[in-house]
Amino acid sequence: MRVLIIVATLLATTFASELISSDEVEDLFRRYARNDLSPTENDKLQDIIELLYRPEHLTTESLENAPESRASLDCLICRSAFAVVFEDVKNGKTDEEISDVVVNLCSSLNIETYHVCAGIVPLNIPIITHIIRTTPEATPRTFCGLVLQKVGDPNFCAVDDPRFEWQVELPEKTELDNIPAADIEPYRVAIIADAHIDPLYEAFGVANCDEPVCCRKGQTAAKHFEYRTNIDESVIKETIVNDNGKVMLDLSMAPMIRELKKSTQTRYLTNRNDAPAGYWGDYRKCDTPIWAVDNVIDEITESHKNIDVVYYIGDTIDHGVWETTYDLIKDMNRRLLQKIRTSFGEDVLVLPVIGNHESQPTNQFAPASVKGDLINTTWLYDELAEKWGSYLNEDAKVTLRERGEFSMLIRPGLRVITLNNNVAYKSNWWLVYDPLDAKTHLDWLISELHKAELAGEKVHILAHIPPGVHDLTKTWTREYNRIVNRFSSTIAAEFNGHTHSDEFKIFYSPDDTPINVAWGSGSVTSYTNYNLNYKIIDFNGATYAPESIINYVYNLTEANLTPHRPPHWFQLYDMKNTFGLTDLSAKSMDNLVHKMVTTNKELLDMYSAFFSKVSDTRWPYCNDWCKIDNLCKTVVTVLWERQKCDELRNIFFSSK
Ligand SMILES: [Zn+2]
Ligand SMILES: [Zn+2]
Repeated sequence: MRVLIIVATLLATTFASELISSDEVEDLFRRYARNDLSPTENDKLQDIIELLYRPEHLTTESLENAPESRASLDCLICRSAFAVVFEDVKNGKTDEEISDVVVNLCSSLNIETYHVCAGIVPLNIPIITHIIRTTPEATPRTFCGLVLQKVGDPNFCAVDDPRFEWQVELPEKTELDNIPAADIEPYRVAIIADAHIDPLYEAFGVANCDEPVCCRKGQTAAKHFEYRTNIDESVIKETIVNDNGKVMLDLSMAPMIRELKKSTQTRYLTNRNDAPAGYWGDYRKCDTPIWAVDNVIDEITESHKNIDVVYYIGDTIDHGVWETTYDLIKDMNRRLLQKIRTSFGEDVLVLPVIGNHESQPTNQFAPASVKGDLINTTWLYDELAEKWGSYLNEDAKVTLRERGEFSMLIRPGLRVITLNNNVAYKSNWWLVYDPLDAKTHLDWLISELHKAELAGEKVHILAHIPPGVHDLTKTWTREYNRIVNRFSSTIAAEFNGHTHSDEFKIFYSPDDTPINVAWGSGSVTSYTNYNLNYKIIDFNGATYAPESIINYVYNLTEANLTPHRPPHWFQLYDMKNTFGLTDLSAKSMDNLVHKMVTTNKELLDMYSAFFSKVSDTRWPYCNDWCKIDNLCKTVVTVLWERQKCDELRNIFFSSK
């Protein structure tokens, strides 16, 4: 490898740099779309494609963990592809014609397999072209800056659109005499999240495939051999020049990269675990078989009595995002609700939240004003209002139909607000259409919290996506944080899903006082490298603060050894007792986090093992950096505000 790097460096020095800015790259792609390239420019475009080509398909993990140079190339790929779509829209091409061009780009740059590109592109193009046609402010930069936003770098592939900056208005705090809670009965909730039911799951089928989710009927195994080119990251790095934040591509590297690809191409036996898919699920890129989802629900109803309410935190649909259909989504929503209703019985209230996988296509949540076929989200809200109707009051049904969320007083003194924060998910293209639509959801949340405050109610907020990591927009996370701060005495608990890991998040006031905790739910899916879980939570009947949080799991490796027997569920931990806490308040959780990096580091080991629900394929491989990374997520609730994370990391490593 060292020889190759030396050769590469020597070759690089023999060519003078030929820098091209990202704007010029975009422009070349636009003119390519217009069929307006001279032969020399066409050669230039081929060189660009050579440099942008992805060695591996895009995955969530590869996107998050990509080295800086690869990430910069992805930003360029994204802007170039969007530049083509913008140009095609301008020139009056149809959605079908545009889809064809983008599918070709998607597969020729190796972003995904042709099959996946050919599914996912036509699902998304009608939305993207509608937004381009109707939104003068939209640019390739806006779309890409959002979808590629990174946890640690606000300047990466930056959006640069002032419409994304907004603030909510918060009402003055009302001083009320302490209103005694009318009900002091204990309150027990079962938490279920991220079922990701895969109706195509095939036990003993293909668990290693080239698509974003495997273990599905009809899939073929990933190739046993692959051709890899040994181009070192340091060479790729040389193709990108960062000139004071302005990213340039060095085209003089293209002949060398082309040459290196040819000369270093080697046929490899892929080091893959080709064992067939497990019966009860699989740690690899697989979702949940229907029988495993049924088993979770049966287990809860058979092992736990006196459950008052089920909180379902969203994401019912599988990760086959390139082939979702309206019928699949409707059918899985029906399937899950029917199972929950028949198992828990009519007397147990179920309060569900919408996940980013419930929409068609995945992640797309349009404002209520958008009515067109193939682009509106009203169909989903109407559908769910009907399915969930028997659990909801009339007001709840109205807001569910309007925006996919509702607020309900479910017993004296306790209001549950389900918040549809998928609208602020970075992958929701509709953010580009109207960034202020997300604000209307937070305005509504404020008015519900204010009403609750005036009535002396406590509130549980259920929202699918947790704030702070890279998923929600910066403005949303900052404004949500202000809301939590303003209403911290009304909000008794928050619950999130989406990450599939088991975690919690602490909110802090500006003077650094821990004020609230958002509890993660884990997931019913094992996607990817997790054990399945559910939680049982007991709340204080007067304050509605959690008093006991117990997580139940089974070990997937063990369960799959005996497919004919139901899995062996066990209690993984009891948050209060296992971590030696006096209560589950924000202050206690903050103390715990500090103990984990100072006096009781074995608590951090335990937290990291629980983070993946003691998955055999994840927790034994979690080193100190991984543990601190997990812990950092507990103290970051505003995107890019990572001072507390840095503090924890420094304390941990300085006392090693
Ligand atoms: Zn999920
Ligand atoms: Zn999700």
